[in-house]
Amino acid sequence: MKRFKKIIGLFLVLLMVISLIPQTEAKAASKVKIVYKKKTTGYARKKTFLYLNGKKKAIIKTPTFMKQGCYVGPASTIYKAAGMDVVYKDVGHKTLTLTRGKHKVKMTNGSVKAVVDGKKVIWDTAPIYAKYKSSGKKRWIVPVKDVSLALGLNYKVVKNAVQVSASKPVIAPASTSKVVLVLDAGHGGTDSGATGNGNLEKTMTLRIVNEAKKYFDQDTRFQVYYTRTTDQTLTLANRYTLANNVNADIFISVHINSYISTSTGTETLYSRDRNALTQKGNITSLELATAMQQAACAATGFTNRGLVNRPNLQVLKYTNMPACLIEYGFISNRTECISMNANIANYGRALYQSVVNFMRAKGKI
Ligand SMILES: [Zn+2]
Repeated sequence: MKRFKKIIGLFLVLLMVISLIPQTEAKAASKVKIVYKKKTTGYARKKTFLYLNGKKKAIIKTPTFMKQGCYVGPASTIYKAAGMDVVYKDVGHKTLTLTRGKHKVKMTNGSVKAVVDGKKVIWDTAPIYAKYKSSGKKRWIVPVKDVSLALGLNYKVVKNAVQVSASKPVIAPASTSKVVLVLDAGHGGTDSGATGNGNLEKTMTLRIVNEAKKYFDQDTRFQVYYTRTTDQTLTLANRYTLANNVNADIFISVHINSYISTSTGTETLYSRDRNALTQKGNITSLELATAMQQAACAATGFTNRGLVNRPNLQVLKYTNMPACLIEYGFISNRTECISMNANIANYGRALYQSVVNFMRAKGKI
Protein backbone atom coordinates (compact mmCIF):
# COMPACT_ATOMS: atom_id res chain seq x y z
CA MET A 1 0.00 0.00 0.00
CA LYS A 2 2.81 2.33 0.88
CA ARG A 3 4.54 1.46 -2.33
CA PHE A 4 1.35 2.14 -4.23
CA LYS A 5 1.05 5.62 -2.66
CA LYS A 6 4.65 6.29 -3.61
CA ILE A 7 3.89 5.41 -7.20
CA ILE A 8 0.82 7.65 -7.21
CA GLY A 9 2.90 10.46 -5.74
CA LEU A 10 5.59 10.03 -8.37
CA PHE A 11 2.96 9.88 -11.04
CA LEU A 12 1.44 13.20 -9.86
CA VAL A 13 4.85 14.86 -9.84
CA LEU A 14 5.44 13.55 -13.34
CA LEU A 15 2.07 14.92 -14.48
CA MET A 16 2.97 18.37 -13.12
CA VAL A 17 6.30 18.33 -14.91
CA ILE A 18 4.70 17.20 -18.18
CA SER A 19 2.05 19.89 -17.94
CA LEU A 20 4.82 22.49 -17.80
CA ILE A 21 6.85 21.16 -20.73
CA PRO A 22 4.39 21.56 -23.62
CA GLN A 23 3.86 25.23 -22.84
CA THR A 24 7.50 26.14 -23.15
CA GLU A 25 7.83 23.91 -26.20
CA ALA A 26 4.77 25.42 -27.82
CA LYS A 27 6.20 28.85 -27.27
CA ALA A 28 9.46 27.95 -28.96
CA ALA A 29 7.63 26.27 -31.83
CA SER A 30 5.39 29.30 -32.41
CA LYS A 31 8.29 31.10 -34.05
CA VAL A 32 9.41 30.24 -37.54
CA LYS A 33 13.11 30.89 -37.82
CA ILE A 34 14.20 32.12 -41.21
CA VAL A 35 17.78 32.61 -42.30
CA TYR A 36 18.13 35.36 -44.85
CA LYS A 37 21.43 36.97 -45.76
CA LYS A 38 23.07 35.08 -42.87
CA LYS A 39 20.69 36.69 -40.39
CA THR A 40 18.14 34.64 -38.47
CA THR A 41 14.76 36.17 -37.72
CA GLY A 42 11.89 34.59 -35.81
CA TYR A 43 8.41 35.16 -37.19
CA ALA A 44 4.97 34.35 -35.82
CA ARG A 45 4.06 30.89 -37.04
CA LYS A 46 0.76 30.48 -38.80
CA LYS A 47 -0.84 27.29 -39.93
CA THR A 48 1.34 24.46 -41.09
CA PHE A 49 -1.14 23.53 -43.77
CA LEU A 50 -2.71 25.22 -46.74
CA TYR A 51 -5.84 24.62 -48.70
CA LEU A 52 -4.91 24.49 -52.35
CA ASN A 53 -7.83 24.13 -54.74
CA GLY A 54 -9.85 22.91 -51.77
CA LYS A 55 -7.33 20.21 -50.83
CA LYS A 56 -5.58 20.34 -47.50
CA LYS A 57 -1.85 20.23 -47.81
CA ALA A 58 0.53 19.89 -44.89
CA ILE A 59 3.58 22.13 -45.02
CA ILE A 60 5.24 21.15 -41.76
CA LYS A 61 8.79 21.93 -42.82
CA THR A 62 7.99 25.11 -44.72
CA PRO A 63 5.01 26.68 -42.93
CA THR A 64 3.30 29.93 -43.70
CA PHE A 65 4.00 32.72 -41.27
CA MET A 66 3.33 36.38 -40.69
CA LYS A 67 5.83 38.90 -42.03
CA GLN A 68 5.11 42.62 -41.88
CA GLY A 69 1.39 42.01 -41.54
CA CYS A 70 1.22 39.67 -44.54
CA TYR A 71 0.84 35.94 -44.75
CA VAL A 72 3.91 34.65 -46.53
CA GLY A 73 4.61 31.11 -47.62
CA PRO A 74 6.62 28.84 -49.91
CA ALA A 75 5.85 29.80 -53.52
CA SER A 76 6.85 26.43 -54.95
CA THR A 77 4.38 24.52 -52.77
CA ILE A 78 1.51 26.87 -53.48
CA TYR A 79 1.90 27.82 -57.10
CA LYS A 80 3.23 24.54 -58.44
CA ALA A 81 0.21 22.75 -56.97
CA ALA A 82 -1.97 20.81 -59.39
CA GLY A 83 -4.65 22.87 -61.07
CA MET A 84 -3.06 26.25 -60.39
CA ASP A 85 -1.83 26.43 -64.01
CA VAL A 86 1.09 28.58 -63.00
CA VAL A 87 4.36 28.59 -64.93
CA TYR A 88 7.16 28.92 -62.38
CA LYS A 89 10.46 30.46 -63.38
CA ASP A 90 13.25 31.03 -60.87
CA VAL A 91 16.29 32.77 -62.29
CA GLY A 92 19.26 32.09 -60.01
CA HIS A 93 17.15 32.76 -56.90
CA LYS A 94 17.41 36.43 -57.86
CA THR A 95 14.07 36.83 -59.58
CA LEU A 96 10.95 34.70 -59.60
CA THR A 97 8.48 35.04 -62.44
CA LEU A 98 5.07 33.40 -62.22
CA THR A 99 2.79 33.33 -65.23
CA ARG A 100 -0.82 32.23 -65.31
CA GLY A 101 -2.76 32.80 -68.51
CA LYS A 102 -2.26 36.44 -69.32
CA HIS A 103 -1.18 37.29 -65.80
CA LYS A 104 2.47 37.68 -65.01
CA VAL A 105 4.19 38.56 -61.75
CA LYS A 106 7.88 39.23 -61.54
CA MET A 107 9.46 39.57 -58.11
CA THR A 108 12.97 40.25 -56.98
CA ASN A 109 14.62 38.66 -53.98
CA GLY A 110 14.44 41.08 -51.05
CA SER A 111 12.56 43.85 -52.88
CA VAL A 112 9.05 45.14 -52.21
CA LYS A 113 8.94 46.30 -55.83
CA ALA A 114 7.28 43.82 -58.15
CA VAL A 115 5.95 43.94 -61.68
CA VAL A 116 2.38 42.76 -62.24
CA ASP A 117 1.12 42.52 -65.81
CA GLY A 118 3.82 44.96 -66.91
CA LYS A 119 3.00 47.48 -64.19
CA LYS A 120 5.17 48.33 -61.22
CA VAL A 121 3.63 47.70 -57.82
CA ILE A 122 4.89 48.01 -54.27
CA TRP A 123 4.04 45.31 -51.78
CA ASP A 124 3.98 45.56 -47.99
CA THR A 125 6.56 42.86 -47.62
CA ALA A 126 9.36 41.65 -49.87
CA PRO A 127 9.51 38.15 -51.35
CA ILE A 128 12.70 36.48 -50.18
CA TYR A 129 14.66 33.41 -51.15
CA ALA A 130 15.58 32.13 -47.73
CA LYS A 131 16.16 29.10 -45.51
CA TYR A 132 13.80 27.61 -42.98
CA LYS A 133 16.24 27.09 -40.13
CA SER A 134 14.60 24.04 -38.56
CA SER A 135 14.49 21.97 -41.75
CA GLY A 136 17.31 23.59 -43.71
CA LYS A 137 14.96 23.94 -46.70
CA LYS A 138 15.51 26.91 -48.99
CA ARG A 139 12.44 28.39 -50.59
CA TRP A 140 11.05 31.47 -52.26
CA ILE A 141 8.86 32.87 -49.49
CA VAL A 142 6.32 35.25 -50.98
CA PRO A 143 3.31 37.35 -49.86
CA VAL A 144 0.52 34.90 -50.67
CA LYS A 145 -2.32 37.38 -51.06
CA ASP A 146 -0.49 39.77 -53.40
CA VAL A 147 0.86 37.02 -55.60
CA SER A 148 -2.39 35.03 -55.72
CA LEU A 149 -4.56 38.00 -56.66
CA ALA A 150 -2.05 39.17 -59.26
CA LEU A 151 -2.33 35.73 -60.87
CA GLY A 152 -6.13 35.86 -60.84
CA LEU A 153 -6.35 33.17 -58.17
CA ASN A 154 -8.75 33.26 -55.25
CA TYR A 155 -7.25 33.94 -51.86
CA LYS A 156 -8.81 33.85 -48.45
CA VAL A 157 -7.87 33.26 -44.87
CA VAL A 158 -10.27 31.18 -42.84
CA LYS A 159 -9.43 30.68 -39.16
CA ASN A 160 -5.80 31.49 -39.85
CA ALA A 161 -5.53 28.88 -42.60
CA VAL A 162 -4.49 30.28 -45.93
CA GLN A 163 -6.60 29.10 -48.84
CA VAL A 164 -5.65 29.58 -52.47
CA SER A 165 -7.65 28.25 -55.36
CA ALA A 166 -8.13 28.62 -59.06
CA SER A 167 -11.80 29.37 -59.60
CA LYS A 168 -13.40 26.23 -60.91
CA PRO A 169 -15.06 26.85 -64.23
CA VAL A 170 -18.74 26.08 -63.72
CA ILE A 171 -18.80 24.21 -67.01
CA ALA A 172 -15.95 23.61 -69.43
CA PRO A 173 -15.54 26.39 -72.00
CA ALA A 174 -17.93 25.99 -74.90
CA SER A 175 -16.36 24.32 -77.90
CA THR A 176 -19.09 25.50 -80.21
CA SER A 177 -19.17 28.79 -82.05
CA LYS A 178 -21.65 30.19 -79.56
CA VAL A 179 -21.03 33.66 -78.22
CA VAL A 180 -19.62 33.23 -74.73
CA LEU A 181 -20.83 35.91 -72.36
CA VAL A 182 -20.22 36.44 -68.67
CA LEU A 183 -22.93 38.40 -66.87
CA ASP A 184 -21.96 39.66 -63.46
CA ALA A 185 -24.54 40.88 -60.96
CA GLY A 186 -22.54 43.30 -58.84
CA HIS A 187 -21.97 42.68 -55.11
CA GLY A 188 -24.03 40.03 -53.25
CA GLY A 189 -24.16 38.13 -49.98
CA THR A 190 -22.36 39.99 -47.22
CA ASP A 191 -21.57 42.82 -49.65
CA SER A 192 -24.81 44.69 -50.21
CA GLY A 193 -23.18 47.34 -52.43
CA ALA A 194 -24.76 50.76 -52.30
CA THR A 195 -27.85 51.29 -50.21
CA GLY A 196 -30.42 54.03 -50.47
CA ASN A 197 -34.12 54.77 -50.34
CA GLY A 198 -34.79 51.43 -48.68
CA ASN A 199 -33.04 49.45 -51.40
CA LEU A 200 -29.90 47.38 -51.74
CA GLU A 201 -27.72 47.48 -54.85
CA LYS A 202 -27.00 43.72 -54.67
CA THR A 203 -30.72 42.91 -54.93
CA MET A 204 -31.35 45.25 -57.85
CA THR A 205 -28.35 44.04 -59.86
CA LEU A 206 -29.36 40.41 -59.30
CA ARG A 207 -32.90 41.09 -60.43
CA ILE A 208 -31.70 42.76 -63.65
CA VAL A 209 -29.37 39.86 -64.43
CA ASN A 210 -32.00 37.24 -63.69
CA GLU A 211 -34.46 39.07 -65.94
CA ALA A 212 -31.89 39.02 -68.77
CA LYS A 213 -31.27 35.33 -68.00
CA LYS A 214 -34.88 34.49 -68.87
CA TYR A 215 -34.17 35.58 -72.44
CA PHE A 216 -30.67 34.16 -72.73
CA ASP A 217 -31.96 30.80 -71.47
CA GLN A 218 -34.13 30.63 -74.60
CA ASP A 219 -31.42 31.72 -77.02
CA THR A 220 -29.10 28.92 -78.13
CA ARG A 221 -26.73 31.33 -79.89
CA PHE A 222 -25.30 32.29 -76.50
CA GLN A 223 -23.40 30.42 -73.87
CA VAL A 224 -23.88 32.60 -70.82
CA TYR A 225 -22.04 32.20 -67.53
CA TYR A 226 -23.40 34.00 -64.49
CA THR A 227 -21.10 34.94 -61.64
CA ARG A 228 -24.15 34.53 -59.42
CA THR A 229 -27.86 33.90 -59.79
CA THR A 230 -28.56 34.02 -56.07
CA ASP A 231 -27.66 36.24 -53.13
CA GLN A 232 -24.11 34.98 -52.87
CA THR A 233 -20.85 36.51 -51.61
CA LEU A 234 -18.15 36.66 -54.29
CA THR A 235 -14.73 38.24 -54.48
CA LEU A 236 -13.82 40.43 -57.43
CA ALA A 237 -11.26 37.76 -58.37
CA ASN A 238 -14.05 35.15 -58.51
CA ARG A 239 -15.74 37.30 -61.12
CA TYR A 240 -12.90 38.02 -63.49
CA THR A 241 -11.40 34.56 -63.01
CA LEU A 242 -14.63 32.97 -64.18
CA ALA A 243 -14.61 35.19 -67.29
CA ASN A 244 -10.98 34.32 -68.02
CA ASN A 245 -11.42 30.62 -67.36
CA VAL A 246 -14.37 30.23 -69.73
CA ASN A 247 -12.56 32.39 -72.26
CA ALA A 248 -15.55 34.70 -72.58
CA ASP A 249 -16.06 36.86 -75.66
CA ILE A 250 -17.44 39.68 -73.54
CA PHE A 251 -17.89 40.48 -69.87
CA ILE A 252 -20.67 42.71 -68.59
CA SER A 253 -21.02 43.75 -64.96
CA VAL A 254 -24.29 45.22 -63.70
CA HIS A 255 -24.28 47.87 -60.98
CA ILE A 256 -26.35 50.65 -59.47
CA ASN A 257 -24.66 53.95 -58.70
CA SER A 258 -24.70 55.97 -55.50
CA TYR A 259 -23.57 59.44 -54.52
CA ILE A 260 -25.54 62.38 -53.19
CA SER A 261 -29.32 62.55 -53.42
CA THR A 262 -29.22 64.97 -56.37
CA SER A 263 -26.90 62.84 -58.55
CA THR A 264 -28.66 61.32 -61.52
CA GLY A 265 -28.01 59.47 -64.74
CA THR A 266 -26.75 56.35 -66.44
CA GLU A 267 -23.09 55.66 -67.10
CA THR A 268 -20.91 52.81 -68.32
CA LEU A 269 -17.38 52.17 -67.14
CA TYR A 270 -14.60 50.56 -69.14
CA SER A 271 -10.80 50.54 -69.24
CA ARG A 272 -9.36 52.75 -71.94
CA ASP A 273 -5.89 51.56 -70.93
CA ARG A 274 -6.70 47.95 -71.72
CA ASN A 275 -8.88 48.62 -74.75
CA ALA A 276 -6.31 47.45 -77.30
CA LEU A 277 -4.92 44.73 -75.06
CA THR A 278 -8.28 43.03 -74.50
CA GLN A 279 -9.57 43.33 -78.07
CA LYS A 280 -11.10 40.06 -79.20
CA GLY A 281 -11.58 39.66 -82.91
CA ASN A 282 -13.36 42.78 -84.06
CA ILE A 283 -14.67 43.72 -80.62
CA THR A 284 -13.16 46.22 -78.19
CA SER A 285 -14.22 47.29 -74.71
CA LEU A 286 -14.92 50.80 -76.01
CA GLU A 287 -17.34 49.46 -78.62
CA LEU A 288 -19.02 47.16 -76.14
CA ALA A 289 -19.31 49.94 -73.54
CA THR A 290 -20.69 52.35 -76.15
CA ALA A 291 -23.39 49.90 -77.22
CA MET A 292 -24.31 48.99 -73.63
CA GLN A 293 -24.45 52.63 -72.56
CA GLN A 294 -26.73 53.56 -75.43
CA ALA A 295 -29.11 50.70 -74.67
CA ALA A 296 -29.06 51.28 -70.91
CA CYS A 297 -29.87 54.97 -71.40
CA ALA A 298 -32.76 54.12 -73.68
CA ALA A 299 -34.07 51.68 -71.06
CA THR A 300 -33.76 53.99 -68.06
CA GLY A 301 -34.60 57.29 -69.74
CA PHE A 302 -32.16 58.93 -67.34
CA THR A 303 -29.50 61.53 -68.16
CA ASN A 304 -26.72 60.12 -70.31
CA ARG A 305 -23.55 60.53 -68.24
CA GLY A 306 -21.53 58.82 -70.94
CA LEU A 307 -18.56 56.48 -70.70
CA VAL A 308 -16.09 56.64 -67.84
CA ASN A 309 -12.52 55.35 -68.00
CA ARG A 310 -11.93 53.28 -64.85
CA PRO A 311 -8.72 51.30 -65.47
CA ASN A 312 -8.27 50.33 -61.83
CA LEU A 313 -11.53 48.50 -61.28
CA GLN A 314 -10.50 44.88 -60.86
CA VAL A 315 -13.22 43.45 -63.10
CA LEU A 316 -12.04 45.77 -65.88
CA LYS A 317 -8.35 45.47 -65.09
CA TYR A 318 -7.99 41.69 -64.91
CA THR A 319 -10.53 40.52 -67.47
CA ASN A 320 -8.80 39.36 -70.64
CA MET A 321 -11.66 40.23 -72.97
CA PRO A 322 -13.76 43.30 -73.87
CA ALA A 323 -15.46 44.28 -70.63
CA CYS A 324 -17.71 46.99 -69.27
CA LEU A 325 -19.65 47.85 -66.15
CA ILE A 326 -23.08 49.45 -66.41
CA GLU A 327 -24.31 51.81 -63.68
CA TYR A 328 -28.03 52.07 -64.44
CA GLY A 329 -28.92 54.93 -62.14
CA PHE A 330 -28.51 56.32 -58.64
CA ILE A 331 -29.95 54.42 -55.70
CA SER A 332 -29.28 57.59 -53.69
CA ASN A 333 -31.74 59.55 -55.81
CA ARG A 334 -35.33 58.91 -54.80
CA THR A 335 -36.87 59.40 -58.23
CA GLU A 336 -34.35 57.21 -60.01
CA CYS A 337 -34.54 54.54 -57.33
CA ILE A 338 -38.33 54.30 -57.66
CA SER A 339 -38.13 54.30 -61.45
CA MET A 340 -35.44 51.58 -61.50
CA ASN A 341 -37.42 49.29 -59.20
CA ALA A 342 -40.50 49.68 -61.37
CA ASN A 343 -38.61 48.94 -64.59
CA ILE A 344 -36.14 46.21 -63.71
CA ALA A 345 -37.80 43.67 -66.00
CA ASN A 346 -37.38 46.13 -68.89
CA TYR A 347 -33.71 46.61 -68.07
CA GLY A 348 -33.13 42.88 -68.17
CA ARG A 349 -34.86 42.54 -71.53
CA ALA A 350 -33.01 45.58 -72.89
CA LEU A 351 -29.71 44.16 -71.71
CA TYR A 352 -30.39 40.91 -73.54
CA GLN A 353 -31.56 42.74 -76.67
CA SER A 354 -28.55 45.06 -76.70
CA VAL A 355 -26.15 42.12 -76.57
CA VAL A 356 -28.03 40.47 -79.43
CA ASN A 357 -27.95 43.67 -81.49
CA PHE A 358 -24.28 44.26 -80.77
CA MET A 359 -23.25 40.72 -81.63
CA ARG A 360 -25.34 40.77 -84.76
CA ALA A 361 -23.71 44.05 -85.84
CA LYS A 362 -20.34 42.41 -85.24
CA GLY A 363 -21.30 39.41 -87.36
CA LYS A 364 -21.03 36.97 -84.47
CA ILE A 365 -24.58 35.65 -84.63
ZN1 LIG B 1 -21.61 48.57 -57.35
